[in-house]
Amino acid sequence: MLEKMEILHVEKVIEEFETMTKDAENVQRETLKKILEENGSAEYLQNLGLNGRTDPQSFKACVPVVTHQDLEPYIQRIVDGASSPVLTGKPITTISLSSGTTQGRPKFVPFNDELMETTLQIFRTSYAFRNREFPVKNGKALQFIYSSKQSRTKGGLFAGTATTNVFRNSQFKKAMKAMQSQCCSPDEVIFGPDFRQSLYCHLLCGLIFREEIQLVSSTFAHSIVHAFRTLEQVWEELCDDIREGILTSRITFPSVRSAMAKLLKPNPELADLIHRKISGLSNWYGLIPELFPNVKYIYGIMTGSMEHYLKKLRHYAGDVPLISADYGSSEGWIGANINPNVPTESTTYAVLPNIGYFEFIPLKENVEEQVHDRGDANILSMEPKPVSLTEVKIGEEYEVIVTSFAGFPFLEIIKYIRKSFRPSPMSRLEVNCFSLEAWGRGLYRYRLGDVVKVMGFHNSTPELKFICRRNLMLTVNIDKNTEKDLQQAVEEAAKLIAEEKQEVIDFSSHVDMWTDPGHYVIFWEISGEVSDEVLKECCNCLDRSFVDAGYVSSRKVSAIGPLELRVLWRGTFQKVLDHYLGLGAAVSQFKTPRCVGPTNYNVLQILCDNVAKTYFSTAF
Ligand code: AMP
Repeated sequence: MLEKMEILHVEKVIEEFETMTKDAENVQRETLKKILEENGSAEYLQNLGLNGRTDPQSFKACVPVVTHQDLEPYIQRIVDGASSPVLTGKPITTISLSSGTTQGRPKFVPFNDELMETTLQIFRTSYAFRNREFPVKNGKALQFIYSSKQSRTKGGLFAGTATTNVFRNSQFKKAMKAMQSQCCSPDEVIFGPDFRQSLYCHLLCGLIFREEIQLVSSTFAHSIVHAFRTLEQVWEELCDDIREGILTSRITFPSVRSAMAKLLKPNPELADLIHRKISGLSNWYGLIPELFPNVKYIYGIMTGSMEHYLKKLRHYAGDVPLISADYGSSEGWIGANINPNVPTESTTYAVLPNIGYFEFIPLKENVEEQVHDRGDANILSMEPKPVSLTEVKIGEEYEVIVTSFAGFPFLEIIKYIRKSFRPSPMSRLEVNCFSLEAWGRGLYRYRLGDVVKVMGFHNSTPELKFICRRNLMLTVNIDKNTEKDLQQAVEEAAKLIAEEKQEVIDFSSHVDMWTDPGHYVIFWEISGEVSDEVLKECCNCLDRSFVDAGYVSSRKVSAIGPLELRVLWRGTFQKVLDHYLGLGAAVSQFKTPRCVGPTNYNVLQILCDNVAKTYFSTAF
């Protein structure tokens, strides 16, 4: 009886979503009012002359659209000693670290109960729609989720990555139970201090509960692929552990060992079965359904920079459906995947109008080009005005602006910078870098930096397709290639090594302006040996695959130098991951940086130090 009551009432969730999205404009107005009322006392808002007004027109007239750069002078003033009593209405109890993989280092973002609630709302909404198509029974989920280090600041704030904050929250666990998606691993494994050990134990738990596993998931698809690549290496050791009922000595943390000891009993039949099943696979195809016969789907963010991993994931998944998880960021959630049936690459996200106030900057190519030509730094003054949620047009691309329930925890952050992190996992210098970013994450009309395309409407709320990060752009002069263009070029060139049964494990890029003229550098980590001849062809193919007119014309007149393909030693991207983990990022939130700028010195150094072979294009 109790068990029944805990299960989420999916029809009710869907009904609420339908009602809310039919009235998106009013819900947005109400949401903005609520945000402004809750934070009305904040100095930041008061200085902007809102004078208690909460309507969208006044808001847009008074509050500027900001990037983190715009806010740096304010931040500097505060960091230098001004103690303005500028607070959000609700206390900030926790600081989140964004993955930092897009800009080179994690950023502090305030995390509070409102953000937790919106997280759960998004999870419930997509689950409700998903469950209609792919119902799960009461079983377990093999979730590759990990914690980062959580620190407590002297002022009493907790700091950890956004996903860690979510996983630790008691509401999250309750919600997962209600969604029949409880993680099969004990907490000691999820919050284990070493992610490699946690990953091994997640795999072991999955195998122990193999019949009960209903879904395999992680926040981002990268972690799922990473986990099964690891399984390819350690599967015999896993079988040994199951056979003997004794955990490998590679797991050293006592809390993790004792939690695993409770689950692990000698089971030679299971070990033999797993051994047989894996031995019978051809090149690991269909590994997931073979190991987990009752799995209904595989779930995690699969769009954007995650698309690269889909090929490998499909290979492991065989005929098990892949469903992309929702769209959001450490600053707040945006939309839920309510059409789980569509092919993963075409996933759209329906915006939940009550979880934030959203605006959209229409992206008009010609305006951007003018800015580019004139070298005008003030892009926004040249750009069309942001439009509201219900004003966006089908087929057009926009940059997302978020106003969310989290705000500026001025005093807390200052206290945090000055007194926190004891023992400090960061140097003083890094704390200062982080603090600047924290201020930059002001959440009133904050430019998220993501480009989305409106694919349609669900009732009156738009369904967005994630296109790319706006700032991740390869550009030497008049050329302009996005993260998406890069991914497509890599996909095209990777077909050449696929013929040799090899794959691009991961990739990144860099614009090298040290050469004259500057040129694109593409970094590839490949699964095995590929001949020089084929790699030369891959390099040419990459160069030809950037079809942007500015790039092609510049290449033709040698205003951009030949594209360079640098093939990395195996394990290089693992080193990149380790670098971010060392900065406090969590594997669950990790996204390989697709374009490494010169300021991301450490990552660039790792990539450059691990080059096995270099090729220059002769395509032009
Ligand atoms: P973080 O800074 O770690 O919070 O990561 C947030 C960023 O991840 C977003 O701004 C997006 O660029 C990306 N992201 C989040 N959800 C998705 C999604 N469903 N599809 C594509 N990219 C996403």
